[in-house]
Amino acid sequence: MSTAIIEVADLTFDYPGFRALNRVSLSIDAGSVTALVGPNGAGKTTLLRCIAALETPLSGTVRVAGLDVYESPREAHRLMGYLSDNFGLYSDLTVAQSLEYAARAQGLPGAAVAQAVATTAQRMGLADKLGKAAGTLSRGQRQRLAIGQAIIHSPQVLLLDEPASGLDPEARSSLAHVFKALQAQGMSLLVSSHILAELDEYST
Ligand code: ATP
Repeated sequence: MSTAIIEVADLTFDYPGFRALNRVSLSIDAGSVTALVGPNGAGKTTLLRCIAALETPLSGTVRVAGLDVYESPREAHRLMGYLSDNFGLYSDLTVAQSLEYAARAQGLPGAAVAQAVATTAQRMGLADKLGKAAGTLSRGQRQRLAIGQAIIHSPQVLLLDEPASGLDPEARSSLAHVFKALQAQGMSLLVSSHILAELDEYST
């Protein structure tokens, strides 16, 4: 029997005057790649932000690896990586600097930073781009760098909001390989999208 890594119970979230999530409950198996599918405005981003403890719901609970994310948001952030739909990069930082910045922001000990940067660049296929400014990368490479920033601290759970939007078929397929590789290394992924064909390639 598989164990749940993400447990959402009775989650209700209101924007002023608008209920975006109404008593959502779900359970996601450890080691899975799960697709979060729905039309524009369905509430995918809101749900991911609630799971990432970046929003406070009206009611309900979210547990990640057994930890209540609203009671312990700091600890929860250590367990999770989050790629927002408008993933932010500083265009003047190089790939190496971008990853180092993420590592330090995640509170990695100084001695572990260089190794984390090297490992992550390798994982994301950016090892030969370390000295390149983020602003000079292609969209697919920037997407991979942003995911690299989200996984720099080797989280157990990776939340990705529309990670493949704007990518060409080849870059999409390479992203699918990246997701499968992260899963093979023990990570659980929750991926939102409205492109069903793409989800078919990597979802469990
Ligand atoms: P998309 O596929 O377009 O990214 P989504 O499924 O991620 O959509 P959300 O962004 O979570 O949807 O939005 C869910 C609902 O909440 C939408 O109807 C949206 O209009 C509403 N909403 C989102 N942000 C706000 C806000 N700041 N204030 C009020 N309503 C909001």
